[in-house]
Amino acid sequence: MPVWSSPINPSPSLSVSNQTQHDLLRGSPSSSLNTLGCDVEVADHRPAVSCPYCNTPAELVRGDVIYRGRPELHAKRFWRCAPCGAHVGCHAPNRRFGYDGTQPLGRLANASLRKAKARAHALFDPFWKSGRMSRVDAYTWLARELRIDVEACHIGEFDEAMCNRVEEICKRWMFGPGPG
Ligand SMILES: [Zn+2]
Repeated sequence: MPVWSSPINPSPSLSVSNQTQHDLLRGSPSSSLNTLGCDVEVADHRPAVSCPYCNTPAELVRGDVIYRGRPELHAKRFWRCAPCGAHVGCHAPNRRFGYDGTQPLGRLANASLRKAKARAHALFDPFWKSGRMSRVDAYTWLARELRIDVEACHIGEFDEAMCNRVEEICKRWMFGPGPG
């Protein structure tokens, strides 16, 4: 029996008012063009998320289930696989990812992958957070080094091998000529 077994309803803490939310949702079936005319699916239904380690369906839980000692995370939503100790957070409610805030940020990560991603971010983020270069430029450089499309260059979605490559690239940048 999962700790959080009841369905999660659209959050009352959405950043838009109920009326605005109603207006935005009205006439927006699960697949439609948005007001910008972009071909973006409006995900107002809960996605099916499974664990990449064991392939079983993940469960949607609140942050207090995972981060008991982090009250600021208690209201947030996470997909988790308890047996694997794997989880991932959710996108904030928005038009592209739906207003129920259940769209996962990426795939579920276990403790080892979470550490690898944290290390990669810790090494990479200072390149743009320091103002040395723009965030876009930094990711463009990283994507080029990784030989992937910049659109696919999201550390949150990388596996451990990719995170390790990010680490190597950043260390080379730090002690060499670097990007930009
Ligand atoms: Zn699992």
